[in-house]
Amino acid sequence: MKAGKQEMKELLAEPGRCTGCGACSYICPNGAVSMIAEEEGFAVPEVAADQCDDCGACREVCPVMKPEQYKEKTAPAFYVAKHTDGDVLFHSTSGGAFTALSDVVLGENGTVYGVVFDEKLDVCHARTDSRTGRDDMRFSKYVQSRIDRDIYAMLEEDLKNGRKVMFTGTPCQTAAVRSVFGRPASLILVDLVCFGAPSPRSWTDYKRMLEEEQGAPLTFASFRSKEKGWFRGQYQVYYRVAGKEERLEDTRFFEMFFRKRYLLRPSCYSCPFTDIRRASDLTIADYWGIEKFSEEWCDRRGVSLILANTQAGRQLLERCANLQYEQRDPAEALSQQKKLSCPTEEPADRALFWKAYREHGFAGAVREFGDDRT
Ligand SMILES: Cc1cc2nc3c(=O)[nH]c(=O)nc-3n(C[C@H](O)[C@H](O)[C@H](O)COP(=O)(O)OP(=O)(O)OC[C@H]3O[C@@H](n4cnc5c(N)ncnc54)[C@H](O)[C@@H]3O)c2cc1C
Ligand code: SF4
Ligand code: SF4
Repeated sequence: MKAGKQEMKELLAEPGRCTGCGACSYICPNGAVSMIAEEEGFAVPEVAADQCDDCGACREVCPVMKPEQYKEKTAPAFYVAKHTDGDVLFHSTSGGAFTALSDVVLGENGTVYGVVFDEKLDVCHARTDSRTGRDDMRFSKYVQSRIDRDIYAMLEEDLKNGRKVMFTGTPCQTAAVRSVFGRPASLILVDLVCFGAPSPRSWTDYKRMLEEEQGAPLTFASFRSKEKGWFRGQYQVYYRVAGKEERLEDTRFFEMFFRKRYLLRPSCYSCPFTDIRRASDLTIADYWGIEKFSEEWCDRRGVSLILANTQAGRQLLERCANLQYEQRDPAEALSQQKKLSCPTEEPADRALFWKAYREHGFAGAVREFGDDRT
């Protein structure tokens, strides 16, 4: 029996809760669910009425319908960690935990899934089995990544072929991979402590604004650089344009995303994964506040927080050859990492910000809502 419009609405998560993970689209046996971009540029599912058999597979796989099902039952062990190679530290967001962990998997002929910039400097998930490909995944890209169907298909193929697989992403993305593939021993899930994922449309419009201001196409972008050290809150977008050697700095995207919180996906403001019980084997983040807790561990080149959520996660950590680490009192990280206990608060004027955005574009909204408004 084909589902009617009302029934289909009930099959999928409500728009404000949907994380755009794409699990429903991948699982649908009839190919009835496509992922499309909504007004703010976030991926959302759309069901083709004439192809839907109302089998319920999409609802069954949706991680936000039953988030508790994908979270570990026990509390994690907390670690401070740092890569032993200064060059890796310099080229990583925090303390280089991702490089150390993925090295173990790549060393066993495994594959690594993580987030890269594509040729248009858009942000998407990719698969690699090489260290060069893995290096492209380093550094946080503060935009919700696009997870194409191909990513799920490649994961399925790798797991079928018995390869060790490490998938990295936001907690809602690791929950989705867990809901689609279950918990095979060859699959290691690594998530991040997650502030929230900014809108892909705002990133596209921001890049266009920079290009117009500079009069040349963007050739490079980076969200976190360690040239001035590893500090909390001092965030800039670093970019380069064709024909200019110098690297430019701009704070407007971070101001709208991080300080003002306007750009996050609606689901992020009520995220069910801001919890110490994680939907992953390991969680990686910045060890903010380490200077208050340990002089010995404090390092201006970056320090990682690692949560070992499962036995498999702990075993992988223990096999990292190039990582110094030490178990710490959870109270340290919990006092600094609010995203381990509650979601980012939605700003009261978010709707007004997006109204201004619709009417006057990203640049107009920044003029109206930014600190430098005139
Ligand atoms: C959207 C977002 C919000 C975050 N919020 C916080 C926070 O509130 N507090 C905190 O302490 N840390 C946060 N982090 C995590 C932190 O920025 C680092 O990514 C983490 O500490 C890993 O650092 P590293 O040195 O081990 O890894 P790196 O070598 O820098 O590797 C980066 C890792 O992040 C993954 N990644 C990069 N961009 C994305 C993306 N858009 N979506 C999903 N995965 C991505 C890569 O696949 C890789 O696994 C956030 C990261 C992202 C992407
Ligand atoms: S959260 Fe994921 S599975 Fe659920 S409706 Fe949204 S895209 Fe589909
Ligand atoms: S805050 Fe939650 S819903 Fe938003 S990207 Fe992070 S894990 Fe996903």
